[in-house]
Amino acid sequence: MDKCIKCDCECMGNTKFGLIFCDICYRFCPNNPEQVDEYIQDKVDGKVLEPFRKFSRTRGQEQKRGMIKKASQGELMSRAPFGYCIENGKLIPAQNFREIEEIFEEFLQDKMTLNKLAKKHNLSVNGLKKILTNFTYIGKIKFNNQIFDGSHQPIVSSIFFNRVQDKLEKIKKK
Ligand SMILES: [Zn+2]
Repeated sequence: MDKCIKCDCECMGNTKFGLIFCDICYRFCPNNPEQVDEYIQDKVDGKVLEPFRKFSRTRGQEQKRGMIKKASQGELMSRAPFGYCIENGKLIPAQNFREIEEIFEEFLQDKMTLNKLAKKHNLSVNGLKKILTNFTYIGKIKFNNQIFDGSHQPIVSSIFFNRVQDKLEKIKKK
């Protein structure tokens, strides 16, 4: 935990001009370096800021929820992943979605390799790996490095998806 230089609260600090500030003090910190000294010396009791902090946190969470909702509907995606398209700002299975199903199924066949499968579907090995590890296909979305439930229709069952991840892990170990 860091300590805010202005209000002394324990917090996850934000850095500005090499100084640590809490969310609130950071927000009001002047952009002019010459004013920063004065700003810091004007101490605030971190406890007084507590109610503001609470509000600031919920607002942050609401913003995040909004972003997640947008992401889950494909609104933040510049391009829909292979097998999906974006219609009216929403992610929906595209006409070629069966090819994604096929790719997952075929990869699980006994002697199937990444190379063979990539060639068959005209993909690069890396492109294929991206498809095989894309959580979008099981109806989830990755946002901020976390996985959330999306509001779009899955193309692949999570059982298949997990088996594919197992096989990928095994390949990696070899
Ligand atoms: Zn502070």
